[in-house]
Amino acid sequence: MKTLVTEDQLHDGIRRLAAEIQEHYDSKPLTLVGVMMGSVVLLADLIRALEAPLRVELLQARRDHTKGLGQGPLVIDEDLLSFGVRGRNVLLVDDIFHTGRTLWNLIPQIDDLGPTSVRTAVLLQKEGKAEVALKPDFVGFTIPDAFVVGYGLDYNDRYRNLPYLAALEPDEMK
Ligand code: 5GP
Ligand code: MG
Repeated sequence: MKTLVTEDQLHDGIRRLAAEIQEHYDSKPLTLVGVMMGSVVLLADLIRALEAPLRVELLQARRDHTKGLGQGPLVIDEDLLSFGVRGRNVLLVDDIFHTGRTLWNLIPQIDDLGPTSVRTAVLLQKEGKAEVALKPDFVGFTIPDAFVVGYGLDYNDRYRNLPYLAALEPDEMK
């Protein structure tokens, strides 16, 4: 396992990310919508770093595998959005932008719920892996292509609790 972003670097990066978000929305009310589960640690830190009036929601996006692994549509459980997002400035918060397909699929589904705006914030973006014409609006760190764990990101339920980010070696993913 190789450390990719240290705890101190994470702390500084989150502060920078929060400052960018703060500047963009000014004091407009904002709804953070965390995409479970990988984003929950980032979400908790962002909540504490932002000063604007905040509403916080969570959604779970899961792949419908009935049409074959990785082939089916991305299904979101709307009932989790307890307050609703109609008329709100929504900021989708996700852990990592890899191919971008998760957010690419989520945005129109959130749009259908009638928000004022939808933007995206991710902790990490992998370099050169995007497969969709979408750029996240706010990015914590750009990283080389690797399988990343820690700070909420897991591998088979492990490593979520690491306070830093690490890249797994191939022999650690068996
Ligand atoms: P995308 O749809 O952008 O290809 O992938 C996004 C989702 O795949 C992320 O929200 C995350 O759940 C998962 N993912 C992609 N790359 C990684 C990685 O390096 N580590 C972990 N733990 N999850 C990843
Ligand atoms: Mg995810």
